[in-house]
Amino acid sequence: MEQRTQFYIDGQWLAPAGKGSIEVFSPTDGALLATIPQGNAADADAAVMAARRAFDAWSATPAAERAAFLKKIQEGLKARTDEIARTITLEMGMPYKMSQRIQVGSPTASFGMYSKMLADFPFEERVGNSKVVREAVGVVVAITPWNYPLHQIAAKVAAALGAGCTVVLKPSEVAPLNAFLLAEIIDAAGVPAGVFNLVTGYGPAIGEALVTHREVDMVSFTGSTRAGTRVSELASATVKRVALELGGKSAAIILDDADFKVAVKGVVGNCYLNSGQTCTAHTRMLVPATRYAEAAQIAVEVARAYRPGDPMNPETSLGPLASKMQQDRVRDFIAKGMAEGCELLTGGAELPKDINPAGYYVAPTIFGKVNPDSTIAREEIFGPVLSIITYTDEDDAVRIANSTVYGLAGGVWSATDEHAEQVARRLRTGQVEINGGPFNIYAPFGGYKQSGNGRELGKYGLEDFLEYKAMQFRPAPKA
Ligand code: NAD
Repeated sequence: MEQRTQFYIDGQWLAPAGKGSIEVFSPTDGALLATIPQGNAADADAAVMAARRAFDAWSATPAAERAAFLKKIQEGLKARTDEIARTITLEMGMPYKMSQRIQVGSPTASFGMYSKMLADFPFEERVGNSKVVREAVGVVVAITPWNYPLHQIAAKVAAALGAGCTVVLKPSEVAPLNAFLLAEIIDAAGVPAGVFNLVTGYGPAIGEALVTHREVDMVSFTGSTRAGTRVSELASATVKRVALELGGKSAAIILDDADFKVAVKGVVGNCYLNSGQTCTAHTRMLVPATRYAEAAQIAVEVARAYRPGDPMNPETSLGPLASKMQQDRVRDFIAKGMAEGCELLTGGAELPKDINPAGYYVAPTIFGKVNPDSTIAREEIFGPVLSIITYTDEDDAVRIANSTVYGLAGGVWSATDEHAEQVARRLRTGQVEINGGPFNIYAPFGGYKQSGNGRELGKYGLEDFLEYKAMQFRPAPKA
């Protein structure tokens, strides 16, 4: 069992002020995997003050120097890919092969992207008699969840450091071990003391101490809408900038002219990625009422081909959920769907066969002819549960897709990209996949409505960590 007993603050590994530790469990078999420190308000203060002291020098560092550090971090991540992928698989359950590509490949690419972007990012422009400069917003607190733990950390930390901000990271207590590896890599890269700091602990304790700290200028939060709302309220007392990446209940609309075999398979795959623990997961599949039977049959076939099991086994396509709490929550949602009369087509609340019953598994599940007003069609489940909903025409499909409080993502499938795009433009969401178009780290990521505020990734993510300053010059005297 791994024991982490120190925080990374001010360029050193230090003993926490907070006593007590937090246990990290393996989702594969429920065994104790590690312990991490349970930080308190004194730890939050030490980390924030270190970041504050480092800010003036770091924000004044030429962008090319910051870029060189980001490149070193990228190289450090790349060199330890297998170890980090294994760590993330063990702590949150994504199948190992996918972890290498997604859980490590994506954050590595994010550090590389921001390193390159700094070379020609327009930090200054002229507007009439003004010079407008972009400056780092200040000390940033990054609070992250467990589902794509290092990807979400990198989207914040790489962009914030690139912008010239200093950072205090508080990762999820459910999957925190990857963050310790990142801190080691940042330390080895020689990033100046205080520029990056790592603390761990529970949200309501150290999380809230960070969010309310007077020396913090911005909070970048990814997690549940419930916690995001609380963070927003607390941060407002000191008028901090708050960026929020929250939940979703995304719809994939399959239009009548789509290739149903391809589209239905694509939607089920999207929904089940990472065992459904993806904030952008397409958890509502909208199909024309006249084509329901065909869509349902394909979806069930695709779902039954998924193999839940040990994420270190290369044959496994569906790992366990990240925590016991998450497993219970998802199984409760399935029971609720049945209680509300939704038609269970495959899966269910029972544990899948041929798995270790001590692991946090949930069977790949599909409900058919789901009423858009039912609980499972409105609330984020965060598990491998797909709802098939029928629509009468395209207007009806758009209305149903837009009918939740969320607005994070969606998808449209059609015989032509043009037809899909017409419908995509009507969706009130921050992202839309056209015929299964892949994720792009150069594109802005974030939500409309209660899915959040602000955008991460690409140049948009960098801009979120910058202030504008306008300097007005007197016009040159006329000759
Ligand atoms: P969570 O909100 O419980 O926790 C997220 C982080 O916030 C953790 O680090 C936690 O310790 C911290 N936290 C919790 N309460 C806090 C408080 N009062 N003050 C400060 N910090 C606090 O969410 P989770 O269970 O880790 O993640 C699952 C949820 O996150 C899902 O709802 C999912 O949709 C959402 N999510 C959204 C995105 C996105 O980019 N939009 C990405 C991943 C996950």
